[in-house]
Amino acid sequence: MQRATPIRAFNTLTRHKEDFVPVEAGRVKMYTCGPTVYRYAHLGNLRSYLMADWLRRLLEEQGYSVKHVKNITDVGHMRQDMVERGEDKVISAALAEGKTPEQIAAHYTEVFMADESKLNILRAHEFPHATTNVPEMIDLTKMLVDRGYGYVVDGNVYFEVGRFSEYGKLSRQQSAGLEEGVRVEADPLKRDQRDFALWKAAEPGRTLRWASPWGDGFPGWHIECSAMAAKYLGPEIDFHTGGVDNIFPHHEDEIAQSEAAFGRRHVRYWMHGQHLLVDGLKMAKSTGNTYEVSDLEKRGFEPLAFRYLCATASYRTRLNFTLKSLRAAQKALLRLREKLSQSDQRATKKGGKEGDRLREEFWGALADDLSLPKALSVAWQVARSGLPGTVKRELLMDFDRVLGFDLVAPMPSAPAIPTEVKSLARERDELRRRKGYPEADAIRERIRGVGYEARDSKNGTALVRIPAWARMDEAISSSGDVNSFLNEPDTVEFTVGIVARRGCAELERCITSARRWAEGLSAEILVVDNGLEEACGARLDGLAASDGRVRVFHADHFLGSAAGLNVVLKQARGRYVVTLDTSVEVKGDILPPLRDLLEDPRVGIAGRWGVTSEDLRSFEEAEASGDVDAVEGYLMAFRRELVGQIGLLDEKYRFYRHLDLDYSLAVRTAGCRLVIDATLPVVRHEHLEWAATPQEERERLSKRNFYRFLRKWGERSDLLVAQTR
Ligand code: AMP
Ligand code: ZN
Repeated sequence: MQRATPIRAFNTLTRHKEDFVPVEAGRVKMYTCGPTVYRYAHLGNLRSYLMADWLRRLLEEQGYSVKHVKNITDVGHMRQDMVERGEDKVISAALAEGKTPEQIAAHYTEVFMADESKLNILRAHEFPHATTNVPEMIDLTKMLVDRGYGYVVDGNVYFEVGRFSEYGKLSRQQSAGLEEGVRVEADPLKRDQRDFALWKAAEPGRTLRWASPWGDGFPGWHIECSAMAAKYLGPEIDFHTGGVDNIFPHHEDEIAQSEAAFGRRHVRYWMHGQHLLVDGLKMAKSTGNTYEVSDLEKRGFEPLAFRYLCATASYRTRLNFTLKSLRAAQKALLRLREKLSQSDQRATKKGGKEGDRLREEFWGALADDLSLPKALSVAWQVARSGLPGTVKRELLMDFDRVLGFDLVAPMPSAPAIPTEVKSLARERDELRRRKGYPEADAIRERIRGVGYEARDSKNGTALVRIPAWARMDEAISSSGDVNSFLNEPDTVEFTVGIVARRGCAELERCITSARRWAEGLSAEILVVDNGLEEACGARLDGLAASDGRVRVFHADHFLGSAAGLNVVLKQARGRYVVTLDTSVEVKGDILPPLRDLLEDPRVGIAGRWGVTSEDLRSFEEAEASGDVDAVEGYLMAFRRELVGQIGLLDEKYRFYRHLDLDYSLAVRTAGCRLVIDATLPVVRHEHLEWAATPQEERERLSKRNFYRFLRKWGERSDLLVAQTR
């Protein structure tokens, strides 16, 4: 019956939705670009595999016999530029962890399989490993050389892009654009810079290497998928899936290799899943914004909540991941299961027309380019409908064969309530009987604090365990979650803002010193817990409870440096805002002197430390009080009104470096001066964010921010103090 709705799929190759017709009647050959196993898969990767899983389940539901292949890349030819530079991620991970490449690959493969099964992703029929298919890759490379598409230089083999006239048909792209200001060095061995490696000569000392007609070496990144698709599925396959970042160069090159070698179409339908984002940026290891399945489990979520979340958006749209949206997904999933379990199972009445209509709508939505959001809404219509219980159950269980939500999972039985929670509850009951309501409320909070909710009803008080994921309900997931008071009047003279990501003792030192020197002044202190450890966050709550001037905001993850500060800027109510890094300790009066500096309307930002520059490329720390080109972020003070004029900080700066320079220059464009007072009584201790970031990571993140800064300000030397003197 489901077969009645033919599948329509959006084909990246034609940019159209097309009716699906298999190469061979009744059979479907499907290939999914799988993981590179030198690290754990993140949720972005898994979103791509979920898309493929829904496609496969739908095809099987329609009666096709599907063969699904997902490769395991266990030789690290991850990115072409890495290959060209001879870098291998599996090897470097192995060196870093003191293991062999085989051990590394085996470990991450095992975890990958477990992650997939936690998300109810059906196991592919084949998981070919790149390292066990090297002879096939060598054969294919030989074929390409024989047919005149490949050429050999010093033990390397390149594919000559100019010989394949259809190159670019998938991506409509011929060569890579410049990535974030990082240029890929030209390879002198290539005839044309568009050419890509099929085989690379092994550098001395390299362990993962194979003998070949061109000497010892290792395969290029793309040849793996061409060779394994052909070996396990044959020369022409029905569906090939991956994330959109695979379109170019990976899939473009795969088409070139396969079609040049076999002289026929490689793939009928190319399907690409859009990215999962975090804080507006692609989830990627290199951005440092990844979540893994284990991160969800640690927070008490079911991994399937993520599956549900992915079903709320079309695979062709970007999806911004937040823990808040995951909480909503987890709640919805539990409610859907609850509806199913509550549906009356005794009724035997037929569903009739209504049931048939909903069934048809559900399968129709899925067949229409995997419209899971629509299918999900039909499932909810069923759950909420007045259909007889048996019909509801039958429909939902039917739908779940594709949805894969374990809708009939047995509800886990609640663990016993600890005795101390029970005795707290008894104490509270007693207080309530004696009308000691404020005390009773305080105990309720204590009960909450240990993860239980006291629910009062006519029949007495029930204790309900609050799952860990639900306990973070009030935490913020982005700076957008707090209201902006920028257009509201001042309520105090000073706002001191402190944003902390790590270092509980350092944070306390900073807060204590700031509170001490704000005493007697009209001031508030805003503290943003930007992903601190839980215990540290709890201590902040205690502080806020004991000092009415302190307000604490908990972020449910590290929002990024700029976003954390934006929480302060939006929520501040002081005429002056002073932001402090937790490395700073206040040793005397700083607020009145900063106010005095800012009384001059020409001064935009005042601070203690600053830098000057001649060319916006190198910066020097300023020694003396006076004008600078940028006030350093350790301590910045400005009139709150200025933020209304300049705007918030640029949240693309997740890492802190250059963020202060960026904002300083923005303030300079408004014609304001930036000044420091080198006599302010403050000291700077070790900067934790810097100290805790490994050297290589620091350099990478710094470079990235530097290029971001340079693109924006590189030509604005006119803003520098040296120019305006
Ligand atoms: P990789 O292990 O980097 O080769 O990625 C495995 C798969 O995940 C590929 O199909 C990628 O296109 C996909 N992918 C990587 N990052 C994301 C993301 N943020 N969102 C969705 N898919 C992604
Ligand atoms: Zn691939």
